[in-house]
Amino acid sequence: MAKYIGPVCKLCRREGEKLFLKGERCFTPHCAFERRGFAPGQHGRTGSRNKRGGTGRESDYARQLRAKQKARRIYGVFERQFQRYYKTALRRRGLTGLTLLQILESRLDNVVYRLGYASSRAQARLLVTHGHFTVNGRRTDVPSMLLDSGDSLAVREGSRATAYFKELGDFAEKRNFPAWLSRDLKGLTGNVQRLPERAEIDGNLNEQLIVEYYSR
Ligand code: SF4
Repeated sequence: MAKYIGPVCKLCRREGEKLFLKGERCFTPHCAFERRGFAPGQHGRTGSRNKRGGTGRESDYARQLRAKQKARRIYGVFERQFQRYYKTALRRRGLTGLTLLQILESRLDNVVYRLGYASSRAQARLLVTHGHFTVNGRRTDVPSMLLDSGDSLAVREGSRATAYFKELGDFAEKRNFPAWLSRDLKGLTGNVQRLPERAEIDGNLNEQLIVEYYSR
C-alpha cells in the first residue's frame, strides 16, 4: 500500500490553508502554517500564486486543480485511487460530486478518524494497517476499505489491552463525531448509520470544481 512520505505541513502551505493533517499539533503554535503561512519554495513568500496573495486572476483550470489536490491531500489518497473513486461516483446515481465525497468519507481510515479513535487520518491509517480493527467481526488491515450503512467496526480484542487503546477513552470523549456514525467508547466500537449528507462533510471542499476538473 503506497503512502505519502514527504513533508506533510508543506501540503497545507501549498494549498494556502490548514488541512489539519497532523492531529493535535495542528491546534498548537507549532503548526507550520501558523508560522509560515505562505507557499513553500523560492516564490512562496512573494505570492506568485494568486490565491496566496498574488494580484492576477487564477484560471479556471488552476482552481479546479487546487480543489482536487486539496481533497486528495485531506483524505490522503493518491491520484490513481482518486480517479477510481471519481469513476465509481460517475457510475452511481445521484450527484457525482456528493457521491465522490461520500466515497471518501466511507473509507475505513476516515471512519476511524471521524469516530475519534485517531487524532488524524494518517494515524487512523496506521492503526488500521497494524490490524487493530475489525469490520463486521472480521479483522482487516486495509485503510481504503469502503464501509456502507449498517457496517460496524470495533477495536480488536487483542488490541484493547495496549496503552493506546486503554487511554483512548479520555481523548476520544473530547472529540465530536458526526451524526451519520454512532460509537460506544466503552466497548470501543462504532457503526455507520447511513452515508453522510453534504452538510456533514467539510464545507471547504468544492466538489463541483473537482467534477469540472475530471470532465475537461
Ligand atoms: Fe497543516 Fe497541521 Fe502541519 Fe499545521 S501542523 S501545517 S495544520 S499539517
